Amino acid sequence: MAVLVAPKALENLGVRDFHMLIDGAWVSGEGGRTLERVAPSHGITVSRYAQASAADAERAITAARHAFDEGHWPRMTASERSHILLKAASLIETRLEEIAYLDAIEAGKPLSQVRGEIAGAVDIWRYAAALARDLHGESYNTLGDGTLGVVLREAIGVVSIITPWNFPFLIVAQKLPFALAAGCTCVVKPSELTSGSTLLLGEILMEAGVPAGVVNIIVGTGPEVGSVMTTHRDVDMVSFTGSTGVGRLTMANAAQTLKKVSLELGGKNPQIVFPDANLDEFVDAAVFGAYFNAGECCNAGSRLILHRSIADDVVRRIADLSRGVKVGDPLDPLTQVGAIITPQHLEKIEGYVSGAANAGASVAFGGEAIRFGAGQFMAPTILSGVTPEMAVAREEVFGPVLSVLTFETREEAIRIVNDIDYGLSAGVWSRDFDTCLTVGRKVRAGTIWMNTFMDGASELPFGGYKQSGQGRELGRHAVEDYTETKTLNMHIGARTGWWMPR
Ligand code: NDP
Repeated sequence: MAVLVAPKALENLGVRDFHMLIDGAWVSGEGGRTLERVAPSHGITVSRYAQASAADAERAITAARHAFDEGHWPRMTASERSHILLKAASLIETRLEEIAYLDAIEAGKPLSQVRGEIAGAVDIWRYAAALARDLHGESYNTLGDGTLGVVLREAIGVVSIITPWNFPFLIVAQKLPFALAAGCTCVVKPSELTSGSTLLLGEILMEAGVPAGVVNIIVGTGPEVGSVMTTHRDVDMVSFTGSTGVGRLTMANAAQTLKKVSLELGGKNPQIVFPDANLDEFVDAAVFGAYFNAGECCNAGSRLILHRSIADDVVRRIADLSRGVKVGDPLDPLTQVGAIITPQHLEKIEGYVSGAANAGASVAFGGEAIRFGAGQFMAPTILSGVTPEMAVAREEVFGPVLSVLTFETREEAIRIVNDIDYGLSAGVWSRDFDTCLTVGRKVRAGTIWMNTFMDGASELPFGGYKQSGQGRELGRHAVEDYTETKTLNMHIGARTGWWMPR
């Protein structure tokens, strides 16, 4: 068993109330409905949000449309927009502790980890601010004396941004600053479970000088308001992060009006380990990859593909390290694995573990849920003897559960890795350059880590192959993703044409 850190009682913690941001005003939802968030670590209500209806979603879209069609934001210079984004980044830094606490308590994430996420988000806002000023098109002076071609990049328009609960502040940072940098206006819907930090971001953006209507933030359920945001004819693009199932639905909804769609979906990410790898470094990365964010992470390294000759030794070493992992109170500075987002999700994780055991896998470590009072947690878990056809080897568990598979040859490892529907990321471990590159080039995934895992930088594009998504976030093209291309085909001199005399 890992080290357990029982949650301390939350003293003097009231329920924090939030309104929605529509057209620059903080408003209640139609009919005064609210949604409440219960802290998954403590089982008590910590936040209450105004709940949007479909009509509220329409109001938010109308405000964004008006701000785009008539407002100042798309017409400002990129320099002006960039300065506002930089100011927002500094304000996020100033309020880092407040934002981190809110994400920790609403999502059950370790506070020390969330501080790093918010710092990462600040870096992304600054990167987007820099890219804003470099957005440019192309010119063609090579089309003959009579023609000059200019290719413009224009903001695509109104963007619906829909985000999940696992990295509430970081994921919106992978979308919103780039859309704003391009000159778009937005309607943002965070997960109903973790909306608080996105609403704080709304306060920050108003203070930074983002004009009314440019960013609208509504809280509500996916079926009620997300569906309006993905079908409404006044929305030009949808940027979505979440499950592959809802991603598929989002694409189908957006198809009715042929909106551009960007999707960041699930993953079942392998770490492939060859016998010559630095195993000391790998076992640390294995534990980190599987248990970081309680495994509620699209990038989780939830599959180990180990060379058979090292498998027993590696599993023993990972189990030894897992014994020291601290699970429990997200507010305790030592905690590494926090709470599971909802009781229903914990049941789903337990179902995967028991299903794997029934299918013939062995629980080499952990395997049980941990209930501290009304909070819900999952023990770091290692399943060995997993075979490629088992559900736990193919489906996203979204919990701290590591599945161990084995291989004999490099080709077999590549086959196992590629033979599933996901293709988000993968790790390759070997001291041999040829092995790393050969495997890295043959694995169908958007990010390949070599002798490391789950590193990232604002400069590096992120996204998935196959059913892990469509499009890429971050990287130097991230602002361009929120643009349309327009060709100006200009004629110079007297025009000769179809029926005019030559
Ligand atoms: P969902 O895909 O259900 O939710 C993601 C976002 O989409 C939320 O804001 C949600 O709203 C919204 N949404 C739900 N239904 C619709 C709809 N019909 N139209 C538009 N938007 C909608 O993920 P969950 O949060 O429920 O998590 C379930 C599973 O998804 C996890 O177990 C995991 O496998 C995967 N997941 C993957 C993530 C990733 O980063 N790849 C992130 C999170 C989850 P709301 O929930 O508020 O109703």
